[in-house]
Amino acid sequence: MPEKTKIRWDVYHKYDELTKVLHELAAAHPDLCRLYSIGPTYQGREIWCLEITNLATGPAGDKPGFQIDGNTHGGEVTGCATALYNAHYLLSNYGDDDFVTELLDTRAIYVIPRVAADGAEYYLTTPHAVRSSMRPFPYSDEEWLETDGLYPDDVDGDGWVLQMRVEDYEGEWKVSSKDQRLMRKREPGDQVGPFYRLYPEGLIRNYKGGEIKLAPPRYNLDFNRNWPSNFAVTQDGAGPYPLCEPENRALAEFWRDHPNLTGVMTYHTFSGVIIRTFVTKPDTEMDDRDLAAYRAIGKIGTEITGYESVSVFEGLTLDKKNPRHGNSKDWWYQDLGAYVFCIELWSLAEKAGVKVTDFIGFLTSREEQDDVKLLQYNDETLDGQGFEPWRPFDHPQLGRVELGGWKFKYTWQNPPPHMLLGEIERTHLFCLKHAALSPLVRITSTETSSLGNGLYQVSATVCNEGWLSTNLTQQAIKLGIARPVTVRIDIPDGAELLGGSRVTDVGHLEGKWSTTGGLFGARPARHERVVEWLVQVPDDAGSHEVTVTSRSQKGGRDSATVVLWD
Ligand SMILES: [Zn+2]
Repeated sequence: MPEKTKIRWDVYHKYDELTKVLHELAAAHPDLCRLYSIGPTYQGREIWCLEITNLATGPAGDKPGFQIDGNTHGGEVTGCATALYNAHYLLSNYGDDDFVTELLDTRAIYVIPRVAADGAEYYLTTPHAVRSSMRPFPYSDEEWLETDGLYPDDVDGDGWVLQMRVEDYEGEWKVSSKDQRLMRKREPGDQVGPFYRLYPEGLIRNYKGGEIKLAPPRYNLDFNRNWPSNFAVTQDGAGPYPLCEPENRALAEFWRDHPNLTGVMTYHTFSGVIIRTFVTKPDTEMDDRDLAAYRAIGKIGTEITGYESVSVFEGLTLDKKNPRHGNSKDWWYQDLGAYVFCIELWSLAEKAGVKVTDFIGFLTSREEQDDVKLLQYNDETLDGQGFEPWRPFDHPQLGRVELGGWKFKYTWQNPPPHMLLGEIERTHLFCLKHAALSPLVRITSTETSSLGNGLYQVSATVCNEGWLSTNLTQQAIKLGIARPVTVRIDIPDGAELLGGSRVTDVGHLEGKWSTTGGLFGARPARHERVVEWLVQVPDDAGSHEVTVTSRSQKGGRDSATVVLWD
């Protein structure tokens, strides 16, 4: 057997490195996982999936499944690393850690570490950043090359696209009195310069002097605006129609082909917050029971990670009239009836001791003292590596400018590589704890009694041992997609079923979560059913074995065999 896989957690893996590590993991644990591609990306890279479960206790498809994905956005490479860590953690702790062992014996975990494999490669191997896809959008490359304006570029060839500041008496910016590196917005009525204009580092197509406008982005597709739920073509980055991108289609088809999936963790960056549905509506629009379960699971996340749990609409939408459309979280809950969480991993602000209450507003407008703290953190803890001090540069079009600013990729958007493991260790357990809350339907007992003359009474108790109900959510019931639990009996050749059905629909089995009350007496969860049959087995029947099989789309499959003898 190959050696246990060694993975570095202080680097962000490029595509070939990631591919190699995933193959090594799969080869080292053939009893626990399979590696396959769920589809090629726009540029032809594989979107890898590690399917992890103990194969000795049944195939993945017969168990409740849970999806962990990362790197839907090209630059959010911490998400890929955290998903990869989940996989490695499960595979290397199976047999030693009781929680992991139980999880893989009873559930299937599907880890899709890098959805935007093209965008991530561009991000990791060039000075540039990209939202998701390398498909030019909304302009073709030919059209885009004819658009006017400033486009980001590494004009001094130092490997970073930073910022340019250009002194201009009409400028909107001024140097902070608290830190010479810090730019503050010019106060109303301030006529005492110097003032500056701020631009992304770049070149200007068709520049004829005067006001500099920004060119449109070259790759503006956003996979997380391309989902069918609440899709809006007016949404920035949505694309022309839902699931138009192969990466989205691959994930949608993955759900079609894995009806056992019960929930999702989708890793993004950044901000240090756990987010959930709804994205387009307030919490009051959600079924009360679903909302309560969402809050209860989110609370587990907060206890593990220290990150607050909020809905995207309630906690991360500044303009409630303009929520984000076509988001994966809405699709998985609103249309597929599963609980889905996202962690916006990593918060530079939190590390720097800045308390953020408005996660979105903080990105565009901060108190001066907060910016000062962030720079102090850069100086004292990051050894000054995160912020490039302004330095003069002779720009080919603008003349003397200054280049500098935050090295955004590995300060704000992702941890500096040496801090990656700390962020992963802090957050990775939440999704595994969520996965373990799925319904789990078991045949917990069988009884037989002989009524004489080859007639037998057979009964089986089928029980949901999980925390969530077999329908997962009330939303799934509302949608009409929640499949009831069925119990089937298989009798030997020559035997006859005189009472009961070959397949019995026992409806939904509640989970432990479904109990209500307390002060005035609790209503116990309706978590089990007893199914009974009458079977006539002649003495000369080929076999006297009867098999009872329970099937739950979200709670897995179980079977028990009983032998009928007088
Ligand atoms: Zn993201």
